[in-house]
Amino acid sequence: MVCFSVRDMLHFSSPNLYLDANATTAVLPAAQAAAQRAMQQQFGNPSSSHTQGLVAKALLEQVRSLAMDYLDVGPGRLVFNSGATEGIQTAVLSALCAVRERRNNGQAVGRCLVYGATEHKAVPQCLAHWNTVLGLDLELRALPVDSQGLHDLAVLAEWLPDTALLCTMAANNETGVVSDLAAIEQVLESSQSTALWLVDGVQALGKLPLRLQHSRIDYAPFSGHKLYAPKGVGLLYVRAGAPYTPLVVGGGQEGGWRSGTENMPGIAALGAVFQALQRGDTFASLDTLQRYRSALENSLRSAFPDVVFNAPLDCSLPTTLNFSVPSFSSKALMDVLDAAGLRVSAGSACSAASATPSYVLQAMGLPLWRTASAVRLSIGALADQALIDQACAAIARCAQALQSAAAQAAPQPPATAAHAQPHKAEWSLQWADLPAFLDAHSEALLVDVREEAEHQICNVFPVVAHALSHAPARLEFHHIPLSQLEQHRSLTLQAPTVVFVCRSGKRSLQAAQWLHRQGHTAVHHLHGGFALSEGAPLL
Ligand code: PLP
Repeated sequence: MVCFSVRDMLHFSSPNLYLDANATTAVLPAAQAAAQRAMQQQFGNPSSSHTQGLVAKALLEQVRSLAMDYLDVGPGRLVFNSGATEGIQTAVLSALCAVRERRNNGQAVGRCLVYGATEHKAVPQCLAHWNTVLGLDLELRALPVDSQGLHDLAVLAEWLPDTALLCTMAANNETGVVSDLAAIEQVLESSQSTALWLVDGVQALGKLPLRLQHSRIDYAPFSGHKLYAPKGVGLLYVRAGAPYTPLVVGGGQEGGWRSGTENMPGIAALGAVFQALQRGDTFASLDTLQRYRSALENSLRSAFPDVVFNAPLDCSLPTTLNFSVPSFSSKALMDVLDAAGLRVSAGSACSAASATPSYVLQAMGLPLWRTASAVRLSIGALADQALIDQACAAIARCAQALQSAAAQAAPQPPATAAHAQPHKAEWSLQWADLPAFLDAHSEALLVDVREEAEHQICNVFPVVAHALSHAPARLEFHHIPLSQLEQHRSLTLQAPTVVFVCRSGKRSLQAAQWLHRQGHTAVHHLHGGFALSEGAPLL
C-alpha cells in the first residue's frame, strides 16, 4: 500500500497517444472546416430549388464525383448513407430481395449465404436478421480462414454452386489481414457462379487501391469515421446492374435509393478527405506507415521478448499490429498501456465491452491464450514520427513497470470480484460532486484500486488533486490494487468513509461492493473513473 498527500503531488500531465485508428479516427482539420462551412454558409437542403439549396446540391455532387473518381467506380453508383453498418444492411437487403424474386420466378438460386469467418459482426448479424425477416430460410455458412486469416479458396469453390450471396471483407479490422480479392474473384469466375458479392471496404479505404469498376464486386460499403471524416457518414458502392432495394424510403433523396435529408456536414467533410487522398499531400504514404509499424513492432519485441504477432505482417495493412504477450491477458496489458497514455484495443471496438476472446483469432485457429491476450494497435494515415517515438517510449515504460510490479508480492485474486453485485446507483459519486462530498467528509479515505504497474506508469492522484482544487489539504490517497484489497481489509474497514477510484469505474465498483459485503456502510466509488477527469466537459 502506498499513501500520498495532496501537497506532495506534481502537476498532472498525461500523453494521449491514440493508436486505435481501426476503431475510429479524429476528424481531419480540413474536414472540420468543410463541415463547418456546410453548417454555416452552405447549410441549404440539397432538395430545395432556391440558391441556397442549389449550392448544397452542387457540394453534394462534387463530393460524390470526387469519391467516384477515387474509387474508380465507372458506371457503378455511390450512395451516401450513415456508415458501413447501414451500407451492409442495404447491400444484404438488396441481394436477398433479388434472391427471393429469382426464387419466386422459378429461377435456380443458391441456398447458402456465405460470409468470411472473420467478417465484422455487422455482416453475419445482418444476414441472419434479413434472412429471418424475409422468411427466406437460407443457410448461413462461415467460410473458414487459414492460420494467416486468408479465406479457404478450396472450400469456397466447393460451396459456390449453392451460394446466393458471398460476403468477404477487403481487410480485417482486428488483424489488418488483407484478403486476396483477386483470388476470390478468380474462383467466382472459374466456377461461373451467379452469387452476388459484397466486399466490406471499410478498413481498406485510403490504404489499398480499390478500382471497383474493374472487379465483379456488386456491393462495397465504406465508412467516413475510419478515415478522418466524422461518424455518421458513409458510402455504399453498387455495381451497375446489381440488384438494389432501398432500406430507407420517404422523400426520395439520392435518386430514391436512400431517403432522408442528406448529412451535409458529414458529406462535406468526407469530400475534404477524398480531396486530400487525391492530392496525396496530407496522409502518410504506405511506405512511411510501414516504417512506423516496424518501429512499433521492434519496440514491442524489445519490451516483451516473448511477444507473438497474431497476423502475418507481410499480408496485413501497414497500419495494424495484433499481438499477444504470454502471461498477460488483453485487459491487463491494455490497462497498463492506457495508464501510459496509449489508447489501444483488445480487438474490435464493438466487442471491447464484452471481454470475450476474439472470434477472429479463434477462426484463425490460434490457441486460447493468444485469443484471450490479443491487443490491437492501429495507426492512422495522419500518424507522424513524434507519435511513433512517444508510443515506443511508452511501450518500454510499460514493460518496465510490469516487470517491477511482478517482482513485488504476487497479487491475490480479489475474493469478491467473481460475484459482482448489480450496480448500486447510490454508491456512485460523479466527478462534479466529488469536491463537495470530500468537503463534507474530510475523514474520507480515497483508494486507487488499479494494479501496481498502472499506478507506477501513471500516478493518478494529481488528476484527482487537480479536480479537487479546494479539497481539504490533509486529504490522503491510498493505492491498494483490487487484487490486494483482502490484505488491507482492516484499513478500509476502519475508515469512516471510503471512496474507491480506478480508470473506468468498473474495478472501483467491484471494490465498493466487496467492502459493502464486509459490513461497511459508508462506501462509494467514482463513477466513470479517472477517464472522465480529463478533457472538456461532456456537455
Ligand atoms: N466493417 C468493418 C470492417 C469495420 O471495421 C466497421 C467498424 O468498426 C464496420 C464495418 C461498421 O462501420 P460503421 O461504424 O460505419 O457502421
